[in-house]
Amino acid sequence: MQIHTAIASLRAARAQAGRVALVPTMGNLHDGHIALMREAAKRADTVVASIFVNRLQFGPGEDFGKYPRTPEADREKLEAAGVAHLFAPDEAVMYPRPQGYHIVPATGQADILEGACRPGHFRGVATVVLKLFNIVAPDLALFGKKDYQQVMVLADMARELALSTEIVAQDTIRAADGLALSSRNKYLSPAERAEAPRLYRQLAVLADAVRAGARNYTALEAAAIEELQRHGWQPDYLTVRRRIDLQTPQRTDEALVVLAAARLGTTRLIDNIEI
Ligand code: AMP
Repeated sequence: MQIHTAIASLRAARAQAGRVALVPTMGNLHDGHIALMREAAKRADTVVASIFVNRLQFGPGEDFGKYPRTPEADREKLEAAGVAHLFAPDEAVMYPRPQGYHIVPATGQADILEGACRPGHFRGVATVVLKLFNIVAPDLALFGKKDYQQVMVLADMARELALSTEIVAQDTIRAADGLALSSRNKYLSPAERAEAPRLYRQLAVLADAVRAGARNYTALEAAAIEELQRHGWQPDYLTVRRRIDLQTPQRTDEALVVLAAARLGTTRLIDNIEI
């Protein structure tokens, strides 16, 4: 695997790389990330992984400083997954001066759910992803549905700005007990880690009820939120939405997703299930 820290070096390699798939990450790689790398390898001649902890997408008081950084272990995992190129710029390369130009995602989409809880988050995500696209010029880029709203924001960005990169969404990879893999799971104490799968279980209970015909979303959401609170969680939201635009569904809407964000101790976890 070639490791590039400079833009010019990555671009020179890209010139001979054929069809390129990019998998952007913030590092501290787990099997969810590696699944994206493997899928990327099936769909392209060359896989480029990027690792960059993007300050722009963290709010004040969020975990930018303590976000886990494990560069050596990450490199080994990418090598083992057959990734050809790693782009791992430091901040001086990505943001040699404070970023003045930003991609501002559409309101109504980026200011609900995660966007409401984390103002400016999707602006930071969209800005860094467009910048990575301009550096790597990938034919396709793969993202996890674990960050459901993120994929939607990025797919809409690609469509509305006529980008030539295809956005590919992949299913969430979970631990055996159902917990969605996440770098932030590292923050959980052993007791919290044992409790954490309840988030997925509550989503699954609600999804099963809707699949069985229930349409009383508000009552189902309230019951799930209460159950989490009873076990010490502080939910930000747990809500049934339409897949297409993440708005509140009408009774006739069928393609749905239930999404949640909740804090367990000091760790904020997100998850979702398509219904
Ligand atoms: P991150 O490093 O957290 O920014 O994630 C990088 C990419 O991996 C994003 O597209 C995430 O949605 C994706 N990802 C993170 N966790 C998972 C998971 N458990 N399953 C599938 N994809 C994931």
